[in-house]
Amino acid sequence: MTEYPHLLSPLDLGHVTLPNRVLMGSMHTGLEETKDWPRVARFYAERAKGGAALIVTGGMAPNREGGVFPGAAGLFTAQDIADHRVVTDAVHAAGGRIAMQILHAGRYAYGPECVAPSAIRSPISPFSPKELDEEGIEKQISDMVTAAVRAREAGYDGVEVMGSEGYFLNQFLVTHTNKRTDRWGGSYENRMRLPVEVVRRVRAAVGDDFIVIYRLSMIDLVPDGSTFDEVVELAQRIERAGASILNTGIGWHEARIPTIATSVPRRGWAWVTEKLMGKVGIPVITSNRINTPEVGEEIIATGVADMVSMARPFLADPDFVAKAASGRAREIAPCIACNQACLDHTFSGKLTSCLVNPRACDEASFDAGPADTRKRIAVVGAGPAGMATAIEAAGRGHAVTLFDKADRVGGQLNMARVIPGKEEFHGLVDWFAHMLAQRGVELALGRAVGPDDLDGFDAVVVATGVVPRDPGIPGQDGPNVLSYIDVLRGGAEVGPRVAVVGAGGIGFDVAEYLAHEGVSPAEDTALWQREWGVADPATHRGGLAPEGPQPVPPARQITLLQRKAEKLGRRLGKTTGWIHRASLQMKGVEMIGGVNYERIDAEGLHVSFGEARERPTLIAADTVVLCAGQEPERSLADALAGRGVPVHVIGGADVAAELDAKRAIDQGMRLALTL
Ligand code: FAD
Ligand code: NAP
Ligand code: SF4
Repeated sequence: MTEYPHLLSPLDLGHVTLPNRVLMGSMHTGLEETKDWPRVARFYAERAKGGAALIVTGGMAPNREGGVFPGAAGLFTAQDIADHRVVTDAVHAAGGRIAMQILHAGRYAYGPECVAPSAIRSPISPFSPKELDEEGIEKQISDMVTAAVRAREAGYDGVEVMGSEGYFLNQFLVTHTNKRTDRWGGSYENRMRLPVEVVRRVRAAVGDDFIVIYRLSMIDLVPDGSTFDEVVELAQRIERAGASILNTGIGWHEARIPTIATSVPRRGWAWVTEKLMGKVGIPVITSNRINTPEVGEEIIATGVADMVSMARPFLADPDFVAKAASGRAREIAPCIACNQACLDHTFSGKLTSCLVNPRACDEASFDAGPADTRKRIAVVGAGPAGMATAIEAAGRGHAVTLFDKADRVGGQLNMARVIPGKEEFHGLVDWFAHMLAQRGVELALGRAVGPDDLDGFDAVVVATGVVPRDPGIPGQDGPNVLSYIDVLRGGAEVGPRVAVVGAGGIGFDVAEYLAHEGVSPAEDTALWQREWGVADPATHRGGLAPEGPQPVPPARQITLLQRKAEKLGRRLGKTTGWIHRASLQMKGVEMIGGVNYERIDAEGLHVSFGEARERPTLIAADTVVLCAGQEPERSLADALAGRGVPVHVIGGADVAAELDAKRAIDQGMRLALTL
């Protein structure tokens, strides 16, 4: 008997029955653009083998003007169709099913050729779109239909018509972007015409035995967005036009409300999908921040949706469903919704990967297989670098001992997990701990390791992490000065007025930690909605609360400082930095750049500005917290090197600059393949 009977129950779509209720949602990985089709095929086939009932590809452009960026992949030629066959054949051979997403970006297309219902530039694009005339609209419909027909020729089991997230079809639906006065604009009847027509003609062209998913924006989160009555009406029309399934889209890309970041509560948007249940006769999929089988099971069991879409969790673990089905749910590598290796990569023009699973999209590089000889390996430091090495090396058959001076594994992740909005790190550390046990790694915790402790090993890996950088501020040894470690690990007393020295990732996190008290909004959806100004789209257009964000008052008065004369947080994650900045701004955190730290005394932190050290200013504070960066902890590595012992140095112990868990895990896993 499975623990997830509802999640793993079949779903009958008429001409086909899906084996379970888990859809692998669409993600742009950049793989298709590499044109390395065996690599693309391997990526999807592994996910099919891992049990996803239906996979949706990344968005494929129906034509050049609709591509998300110039050169975006699509089915334009006979060769393209043959190339995609490689992928669909591999997925079918693995026992899976795959649908191709047709993504017309409209005014979000990053190029001068972009087209839209009206010539209104989006706030997130430098390109003004060309307003389409009647003929132009016909061409777009015809191109989308052609894409669907070609998808069928290429062996896909269906298509997903992308109608949400503020893309082309969504742009026709709302007056925010559609100012037309012809039959494609004005009344809602007219604004709905394009999406409905696309689905109708796609269905007519592909026949009945082909899956057509429509991704529908159920809460736009932009001014003048749809009401829920309009959402229901559109859903019913799309059903009548021939869609097999409705998928949920949450928020336009230009919305200033987080929709999938780690600080969004788990299943924090499923309530929107639930509102549509019972209003249509076809299955409805819910989406966003679903990352465990427990959450998926609860959603299906309680009738919140008929199916759940998970996208990033299939980067973190291709075997999500297979593990859930075989009683190995604790082995599922969790997606922590950090975006660090997926969306941040996409928006930087890099191939997608995954922080917790560097194999994602690079499967062939990890084909080392079992080790030829079983070695005794010592790994010192149970942070992410050391844990990743230990798990991978043990998986290859080595006898691994993992040392840490702390009495638990996790390293700095144990500080990350206490930050409000980073609760997912609890699950990540638990997963590491479980996998260490499952792979038989011997743990030696609670004692600092010196060079004498490492005799008799065939290989030594030093993953001792970092030490905080000493900023050398006069007065920093006073009783009112703490390091981030004192605050996050030691629970040190912090006064009501705080100055935070350093505004990197840790400075921002410490400010977030000190600004909050009580329940974390990430664990209370209603509180989180108030913080960000989310309302029910049934009562407020687009789901925007008229009163705007209503954050809980801050627990402390906080000033965040840096020496660089640039916007604070500029170097934070590409897709999440704005959320950290907005969150602190809502908490009234003052952000000051371009300072010189002069001294700390009982009154607080004294700073000046510019090379001439002008405008002496007191930042009145009861506590000053130092978050001035980190340096490698190399004492063990240096001592071993001094004795001529060969060592592998990884993670922060190797290079502390711009270190994050993504690099630490990647380096650790890749090293283990060579041991
Ligand atoms: P560490 O995690 O520092 O681990 C080193 C380990 O070595 C420690 O457990 C230490 O006790 C042990 N050790 C040291 N010397 C010895 C010795 N002689 N004997 C035995 N054991 C020893 N990164 C992200 O990617 N995303 C985030 O969102 C994120 N948030 C963060 C939030 C906070 C508050 C902090 C502090 C860090 C955050 N990081 C984040 C950074 C991330 O945690 C680090 O980059 C990562 O942990 C570094 O991994 P590591 O294995 O090199 O070292
Ligand atoms: P960091 O990002 O390098 O930031 C260090 C901060 O200290 C900067 O604001 C820097 O700004 C300041 N600083 C540097 N030298 C200083 C000095 N001598 N005196 C005073 N201030 C100084 O490092 P971090 O915040 O310690 O974070 C460590 C790593 O963890 C980072 O690489 C980060 O990527 C990772 N992390 C990531 C996340 C995430 O969400 N992805 C969260 C937390 C941590 P100025 O030089 O301008 O003063
Ligand atoms: Fe999830 Fe982070 Fe991996 Fe992206 S990089 S899939 S958000 S864990």
